[in-house]
Amino acid sequence: MITYEDIGVTPVINASGMMTRLGGASLSPAVASAMAHAGAAYVDMDVLKQRAGAMIAKWAGAESAWVTCGAGAGIAIMTAACVAGTDPRRIERLPNADWQPREIVVQSGHLINFGAPIAQMIRLGGGEPRPVGWANATPAELFAASLDDHVAAVLFVQSHHCVQKGMLPLADVIRLAHGRGIPVLVDAAAETDLRSYIEAGADLVTYSGGKAFGGPTSGIICGKESLVAACRAQEQGIARAMKVGKETIMGLLTALSTYVARSPTELLAPLTRVAEELLAGLKELPYTRAYIERDEAGRPIVRLVMQLDEVRLGFTAAALVDWLARTTPPVMVRTHRVNLGIIAFDPRPLRPPDVPVVIRLVREAYASLRSGGAQS
Ligand SMILES: *Cc1c(COP(=O)(O)O)cnc(C)c1O
Repeated sequence: MITYEDIGVTPVINASGMMTRLGGASLSPAVASAMAHAGAAYVDMDVLKQRAGAMIAKWAGAESAWVTCGAGAGIAIMTAACVAGTDPRRIERLPNADWQPREIVVQSGHLINFGAPIAQMIRLGGGEPRPVGWANATPAELFAASLDDHVAAVLFVQSHHCVQKGMLPLADVIRLAHGRGIPVLVDAAAETDLRSYIEAGADLVTYSGGKAFGGPTSGIICGKESLVAACRAQEQGIARAMKVGKETIMGLLTALSTYVARSPTELLAPLTRVAEELLAGLKELPYTRAYIERDEAGRPIVRLVMQLDEVRLGFTAAALVDWLARTTPPVMVRTHRVNLGIIAFDPRPLRPPDVPVVIRLVREAYASLRSGGAQS
């Protein structure tokens, strides 16, 4: 076995979130052993994917489901399904679709970069992104008027990265799009609810397997039978570049089976305990307000937030983030509002022994930065 240390890669303490750039979720022993077991055997991949899709569909309350390598791939494949359908000549020509409809309507406030641009994932699937509205507003009349014959689908992005005000809600998007016979795709990559978008009437929904669900790096597409069949058909085309292995599929199923067996309250309780332990350890820091906050995008997640009085402290939140990232072991925190002097700690990826280490290192950082800022 080769370890991270063997090749000079230092594991970090992750207090930032289920971040793809830090490796997604850490795998439970059950998930890891499912992967080891599955990886050692040969199976008919098509049968495996059918069975896995059927299980996921049941958990999601969807007609059908399919697996892929991530939600980024999910966006490309859902787009391709709406642009090329199951026509082998069209599938073969993607992403160079020169026919209509191929435009994918997206509210401007949803055209984010999650590490790569949403618009580029659409183009990978042969779609042409059509932004509607502005960064801070999508009037319903403008949205409705944009749904013409060139539109293959609407993509709704549910994410903490998106503009959280002024956007047309999913229910309105579905009502208007379905009124024109246009399917609605949802990117719910980092979301925690496996059923609500299907229940709301979305035609296809994609999730990351390696974010909220604690699976290996992977992705799910679930939704209407005929559209999932069109997603599956893309494996003879662009989706071949996004394939997923047998061990990943079995790890994903194991993670999901545990995840769906827990109620939202059961999921929240351990997070609250960690946040409270962090609060107890960090609330006495000078010129700093520490408090527990619910997720900004409404997911059942709590985080410990620290708001720094940068002037009185004599150092910035950005300097603190930097100090923590360079110490040993490195601690990665949530930096979405660092420009406002705010950092946050996400309890989900913290393992119990990490918590006292984080508290000690943050205190050391304060002592060091207040006495002139030299790195320990
Ligand atoms: C993470 C993310 C993606 C990409 O998901 P992967 O599984 O990493 O490919 C897409 N959209 C949003 C909103 C995300 O947060």
